[in-house]
Amino acid sequence: LSSRIKDKGLLRVDGFIGGDWVKAADGGTYQVLNPATGKPVATLPRLRHDETLAAIASAHSVLPAWSGLTAKQRGAVLRKWHQLATDAAEDIAAIMTAECGKPLAESRGEVASGLDSIDWSASECRRVSGQVLETTSRDRRMLVLRQPVGVVAAITPWNFPMSMITRKVAPALAAGCTVVLKPSEQTPLTALALAELADRAGLPEGALNVVHGDAPAIGSAIMASETVRKIGFTGSTAVGKMLMAQAANTVKRVSLELGGNAPFLVMEDADLALAARGVVASALRNSGQTCICANRVFVHDKVHDEFAARVAEIVKGLKVGDGFAPDTTHGPLINPAALDKVAAHCADAVSKGARVLAGGGKPASLPERLAGGSFFEPTVLAGATIDMRVFREETFGPLVPLFRFSDDDEAVALANDTEYGLAAYFYTRDLKRAWTLAERLEYGMIGVNEVAITADVAPFGGIKQSGLGREQGTIGLEEFLETKYVCMGLG
Ligand code: ADP
Repeated sequence: LSSRIKDKGLLRVDGFIGGDWVKAADGGTYQVLNPATGKPVATLPRLRHDETLAAIASAHSVLPAWSGLTAKQRGAVLRKWHQLATDAAEDIAAIMTAECGKPLAESRGEVASGLDSIDWSASECRRVSGQVLETTSRDRRMLVLRQPVGVVAAITPWNFPMSMITRKVAPALAAGCTVVLKPSEQTPLTALALAELADRAGLPEGALNVVHGDAPAIGSAIMASETVRKIGFTGSTAVGKMLMAQAANTVKRVSLELGGNAPFLVMEDADLALAARGVVASALRNSGQTCICANRVFVHDKVHDEFAARVAEIVKGLKVGDGFAPDTTHGPLINPAALDKVAAHCADAVSKGARVLAGGGKPASLPERLAGGSFFEPTVLAGATIDMRVFREETFGPLVPLFRFSDDDEAVALANDTEYGLAAYFYTRDLKRAWTLAERLEYGMIGVNEVAITADVAPFGGIKQSGLGREQGTIGLEEFLETKYVCMGLG
């Protein structure tokens, strides 16, 4: 990896606490592996409970100074961070591809969107304002103040090693909070490079701390702390539910971005070429490893066969391989367990009658160097039915299962038949249908004839068991602000 990085100072491997780079007190370590080769990329200290308490203490000690700055001053530090990260974009993208496997072009795209979150937050914090209420009595005045919630913990996953961090850390810092970040142990290097750049940008020591290693130990120290006032989590539904339960003891605020099981509806009047490109882009983004990937594709009977043929043709032209190879369109899965899950979902569907239209297994011809990688071909399955695992469970891999429907009511019922409610997509050219489907689908985000829905200005998040709260946009900054009511008696 080092040979691909211009600025070697970005290759940090320690914990970052109170402005210092630290090892584990007990000397423990763990390794980050390259998912394309299965080989180690770096060895890092396995931080635990005590280091987490130190990080929380340092975030707490700098809180008065950081929150005491004006929004303009905090924004200026964030803007400097944005500038340095922009200059380092190629290095960050290479670190990301090495630890998470996504093709370099996709890593570059993620860096750009992460940068947007920093930029947005740096500006938006200057527009925070309270209220002066119309009083209910002439001898009183009533005000509402907005203040930072305090010390925030951010716990982030491996599938977007930068943007899941920046969409939490940037608004938190902009709002005047200080942060303890726990990135995924599978992709901590991107997080550490960002911390190095924040340090260079002049962020005060302790305003951003990074701890990683023993996730349950770090998590329980965070959740038990009375100092940490809010957690922002993106990850699995199982861990999110556990954190929410743990948050009850200290009544922490929680924002959760959990799993999804996104429906993708192709209505009878859809532009099929557009919909086919859309479903491939959505279902196979990051090799199917995003929480908003299309998981279940419902196609109207009248257009099913033509649509299926179009999708299969596009998918057959994709190229699986090392994310650093210029012709690679799709990288590996994050690890062997993820690969096993995809293979199991595919086998389950086939055993229950699904037909493989493209892909279907491990790629046949990969270079020897990638023999230890977790690769699965982008795969299209026709004849999917609701008794298959692909209907109920989030695959988190490159499967495109095609289901059939015959009218709008059936499509909506199938789409909503899940405990998840993150993103949904549909393709239609009918305006009335567009309105009614958008209203009837029980999801936090809807793409109408569009799958690239994520944006720094737009509220990202889910309903039902997909989560609580929203990230990005104005509401994403407000999540880091408390509301304080002041009633002033005039005697
Ligand atoms: P995924 O399956 O996407 O890795 P996880 O929910 O396991 O999802 O991981 C998301 C984040 O949650 C990671 O940073 C991971 O280390 C962290 N995590 C996992 N288990 C715990 C735990 N017990 N307490 C706190 N954080 C945890």
